[in-house]
Amino acid sequence: MASSRQSMSALETVWRGFRRLCPRCGEGRMFAGYLSVREACAVCKMAFEPLRSDDAPPYFTLFIVGHLVVSLYLLLWPYMPFPDWVHALIWCSLTLVLSLALLPFIKGGVMAVIFRTKASQ
Ligand SMILES: [Zn+2]
Repeated sequence: MASSRQSMSALETVWRGFRRLCPRCGEGRMFAGYLSVREACAVCKMAFEPLRSDDAPPYFTLFIVGHLVVSLYLLLWPYMPFPDWVHALIWCSLTLVLSLALLPFIKGGVMAVIFRTKASQ
């Protein structure tokens, strides 16, 4: 198992995780649903339970989305002469949609980093 970790690049490992695929073989799916992690890879039988990412994926997701949405708001608000309630609706909706869309991918990437760095051992 250790040799398969060393033979691929760190970027390839994280890319596999970002696509929510097994970081070791790159074929089995890591998630059974939106965020539910499978017990093990269906292809290589690697257990996913030790790759617990805890609060890191929501933290990174909100960090990225917060910086993106606030930057867009500061860039675009002079060109959007809308009432405040419309701004609130637009930017809060964008924050919610982007957060929910990115979270599973970032969780897979974090799990792959845990696999790559052997942080679970
Ligand atoms: Zn696998």
